[in-house]
Amino acid sequence: MRMILMGPPGAGKGTQAKVLAQRFGIPHISSGDLLRDAARRRTPMGVQAKRYMDRGELVPDNILLGSIEERLHGPDCATGFILDGFPRTLAQAEALDKMLAGMGAKLENVISIKVPRDEVVKRISGRRTCRNCGALYHVIFDPPTNPGLCNKCNAELFQRDDDQEDTVLARLEVYERATAPLLDAYRRASVLREVNGIGSQDQVLARVLEQVQTGG
Ligand code: AMP
Repeated sequence: MRMILMGPPGAGKGTQAKVLAQRFGIPHISSGDLLRDAARRRTPMGVQAKRYMDRGELVPDNILLGSIEERLHGPDCATGFILDGFPRTLAQAEALDKMLAGMGAKLENVISIKVPRDEVVKRISGRRTCRNCGALYHVIFDPPTNPGLCNKCNAELFQRDDDQEDTVLARLEVYERATAPLLDAYRRASVLREVNGIGSQDQVLARVLEQVQTGG
């Protein structure tokens, strides 16, 4: 099954994508994770990308698209994948269409998780990420058992540079400007299914699952 999970930063895409990936036995491909990993390893692509990420801006397609395409050709993607954070613009959606056509594959699900702006800011500014395994926590809504440490691997939790409030507002502005037209296009093509992202992780998961089409 090939699925795109959309939504503003902090909508819970990453959390839901991880669960869905396990449930359907397909990889979770997060463009943000790919870029952060490249930045951490200081690859030329990662170093270039980090400049944009730190400002909350979109990384240009000439930097990003090659690694997405390479990832989609991985053997683990043969039966499907869940894309999280890509595509984010009309141009990226067109590039994705071409990649899929080249693979003889088709997209089954485009699901958007909707969360209002003030809720996004509240969620992201309290978000903490495990430096080792990437598990996500929230200082108020989902705190770790031992403050500052991951429940799963005991490694240190940190706040992403781009989760500071100023950068969150910039990312939201980018979402509204660049990604809204893509949502409109998927809506017009009648492939978009929208779910309410307010509620517990399990409640949102149930709403997403109601919308997932597994046939084909
Ligand atoms: P995310 O983890 O999805 O919130 O992405 C974090 C940051 O990575 C974004 O603010 C962008 O700077 C960059 N990024 C992730 N996905 C994309 C994309 N599809 N196009 C351009 N930049 C992206």
